[in-house]
Formats: sequence, structure tokens, C-alpha cells
Amino acid sequence: MKSRSFLTSCAFFFSSVRLRLTLWYLAFIAFLMCLFGGSLYGTQAYLSSDAINARLDTQLYQDAQQLRDVYRTALLRNVQPNTQTVQLSSNEFVLLLEPDTTMLDMRGTLPANIIQQLQMRAEGNQTLFDISIPDQGSSSSGERRGWSWNWHSEPGYRILMTPVLNGQERVGVLFVGLPHSFSIPIVTIWMWHGFMGLLVAAIGGYWLAGKSLRPVKMITRTANEINATDLRRRLNLKRRDEFGELAATFDQMLARLEAAFKQQARFTADASHELRTPLTIINLEINQALTQASTPEEYQQALEQIQVENEQMAAIVNSLLLLARADAGQIALQQEEVDLSDIALASVERLLPLAQRKDITISTGELPELIVQGDPHHLGSMLTNLIENAIKYTSGIGKHVHVELAREGERAVARVRDDGPGIASDHLPFLFDRFYRVDKARTQKGTEEPGGTGLGLAIAQWIVQTHHGEIRVHSTIGSGSLFEVYLPLQPEGAAKPELTCDNKK
Ligand code: ADP
Repeated sequence: MKSRSFLTSCAFFFSSVRLRLTLWYLAFIAFLMCLFGGSLYGTQAYLSSDAINARLDTQLYQDAQQLRDVYRTALLRNVQPNTQTVQLSSNEFVLLLEPDTTMLDMRGTLPANIIQQLQMRAEGNQTLFDISIPDQGSSSSGERRGWSWNWHSEPGYRILMTPVLNGQERVGVLFVGLPHSFSIPIVTIWMWHGFMGLLVAAIGGYWLAGKSLRPVKMITRTANEINATDLRRRLNLKRRDEFGELAATFDQMLARLEAAFKQQARFTADASHELRTPLTIINLEINQALTQASTPEEYQQALEQIQVENEQMAAIVNSLLLLARADAGQIALQQEEVDLSDIALASVERLLPLAQRKDITISTGELPELIVQGDPHHLGSMLTNLIENAIKYTSGIGKHVHVELAREGERAVARVRDDGPGIASDHLPFLFDRFYRVDKARTQKGTEEPGGTGLGLAIAQWIVQTHHGEIRVHSTIGSGSLFEVYLPLQPEGAAKPELTCDNKK
């Protein structure tokens, strides 16, 4: 993971989704608190307003007028008052006193001390007044009042005192009262506000979550649209936050996948092409022999050509099999102490007849004892391939191939130098790619011998990398080539390093 500079980290922090979500969340909570507090305050303001009292007064005057008529009629006729005809609120009370304050009738429940207070005020003209209830805990009927919250500082009643007159004569005193204001249970108010708050929080939270997760949706949609044939697509999310980072990582992964798919497709196409060519030639040779050849020499020539093509195919198939098994990590490499000088000498000896045939001299420089940990068979075929290439491509142009070993710090280096044609610099970066050949001709220049498969250096690179080493090439046109293989030396008395069998680089 790349380390970020302080300034980049700061810039990232200030544009991060984490910070933005926190700020959004804070703003939302502040908004919610204002809404909750404001609505509570508004409710209070409304319930304690004059409008409420005015409404109470109007209701009291209306009810008192109707009741006064009902009571006057009943008192004059000396019958039971029929107050049921007057529609009263459930919490409204009615008290009728005789002029001497004896109680004649009562509707609703009233604490005894309130009745006493009213008896003391049963004189004079129609008056509107308030009385407070000092002790809410007890009532005249002995019932406990439920826990309620009155917005006034002191709970009480709004009362209208109306004398009941028969002409000028006072025959009764009527009190009609209503609780000072609506006594709304605090639990109800909180429940309502809480419910509204939760509703707003749920809607806001849903919106906030949707807004923050929009890039994830977009990433998911694009990821769903991408398939193996459309790996050129990229998210290109230009954001400097966590989602931008995620999208960039995703794009990098897509780029790697695209490269891997392209490589795979090219490999398959190259492999088919390489195998198809010898097959076509074999087919042609057979047809020609069957239709045109008449002498034993012509048959001999056709069979020799078929053999060459067959050997070429076998070489390709063997190399492909090796690379495929290497890719799948199926090749079990031996781990033993290997002296590179033994390997180099064996490879040179093996290739001396070929060099002589091609009129090339192989010289060896210093070959000191250099112990590396590895697989002698694979290391041998890697070095043989490099020397064989040097002989093959130098033939007809140069005369010498030189092999030497050296120690460079903790590493052993094997060098194979030739004075052949050299390789143009624009080919060098691709030299170790599978099926890459500088000269695409199927036969080596000036000879009828088959060219290579283009897999030798890819296999050599795999072997070197598996041994934790490195392979380099230095070459310029006309001045020959130098291949160098660096391998870690086995430290004295050190534990054996694990060989990696992963060639998917
Ligand atoms: P091939 O089977 O064709 O030799 P390699 O992978 O071994 O495949 O080599 C890849 C290509 O690199 C060769 O086709 C050749 O063009 C070039 N090459 C390899 N070694 C040399 C060399 N010593 N001199 C010039 N060209 C070379």
C-alpha cells in the first residue's frame, strides 16, 4: 500500500465520506432537535394562548344561558330540571345553589374545597372568574386524577357565575365551569412528538443513506454490465473519497484482468497458429507424395520434411505443456544444492557437436564453484537454451559463443555472450513473451532448419524467476547479444529457501 503524504492525507480526510456523513448526520440531528423543540414550544404557545380562553368563555356563556333557562323553569314549576337537553363537554361541571348557597343540583365532579369557594362567591351579577386547584391529588369524590400536564402554572377552572332570576327576584345561582385549558397528558404530547421525530428521522436517514450509497449503486451497476468481452469499461469515478479509492482499485483490477485476458487470448491464437503451420505442411507433403512422388528419393524427401515438422510440433506441444503446468503450479521442482559450474560445463559439452556443425567455437571463461539452491534439471535446460540460442542465431554471422560464471555479492551470475546479429532495442522488452520471435520466418536465415518456437526464453524466464533470480539481455544490432542470469547464492549453513512455482507474472 502506498504511503500518503501529510497534505494528501489531510485533503483525503476533508473530502472523505466519513467526514461528510458525520457532518450530514450532525446537521440532521440539529435540524431534528430544532423541529422537536420548536413543535413542543409551538404546542405550549398555542395551548396557553388567549384564543383558548376565548373559546372557553364562549362555550361557558352558551351553556350557562341554556342551563339558566332550564333551571329557572324547573325552580318555578318545582319540578326536576331536565338538564340532559343541554349538551355539555365531558369535563364541564355545573353547580346550582339556592340564594342561601344550599346546593340544589350538581353535574360533573368537583372537589369539596372548590364547592366551598363557589358558595362564598354566590352573589352579585354574572361574573367570569378563575379558581385554582391547590391539591390535584384529591377530589370531592375521592378519585385520584390521572397524571396530566396543564400548560398553566397552576391548574384550575374557568367559571361563569350566573344568577337565576324570576323578574327581579333571585331564585338560584348557577355556576358552569370548564378546566382551565385542555389538560393534555404529557405522555401523549411526547408520544406524538416522538412519533413525528422518528418519522422525520426515518425519512431523513433513508434519504441520507441513499445519497451516500449512490456511488456504490453505480459501481455495482457498472460491475454487472462488465463481462469477459467488455473488459475495456472503466468506472472513472472522479472522487477524492473512499468511493473514489474503491473505484480506482476496481479500475486497476479491471486493467489487470483485461491484460491477462488479452495475454491469454493472444497465447491461444499464437499456439493455434504455431501448430496449424506444421500441420498444413505435413498435409501438403502427404498429398504431394501420394499424388506426385514416384521415386524412392521423393518419398524419402517427403518423409524427412514430415519428420522435421513433427519434431517442431512436438517441441511446441512439450513447451506449451510445461508452461501450462507451470501456470497451474503443477511442476514439482527439486530443491538441492547445485553447483552452477557443473551445470554450465554439462550444457557446453552437450552443445559442442551442434556448435561444431555450425562452425561456431564455444569458449568458457572462469567457471568458479557457485552453489545455488534449486532444480539441476531445470537450471541445466535453461542454460542449455541460452547457449543453444546463441549458437543458433550466431551461425552464419558470428563465430564465437562465450560462457562464464561470476560471483556478484550474494548472487551468482551466468553470462552467455555471442558475436551474432544482435537484437534491435524495440524487440528487447518482448523477448521473454510467449511465442515472441524477432525473425518471424519459420526457418533460420540461410538454412533449411526450422526456426524456434518462441517459447524457449519464456520458459527460461519462468525457471529463473522460480529460483528467485533475474534474467537480463543486453544487445545491439550488429554487436552480438549478452544474456545474464542472476541467482541467489546459497549462504553457508543457511536453511533452504522455498522455490516458487507461480509463473503468472
Ligand atoms: P526460439 O525458440 O525462437 O529461439 P526463444 O524464446 O528462445 O524462442 O527466443 C525468442 C527470440 O529471441 C528468438 O526467436 C530470436 O529472434 C531471439 N533471440 C534469442 N536469443 C538470441 C540471440 N542469442 N541472438 C539473437 N537473437 C536471439
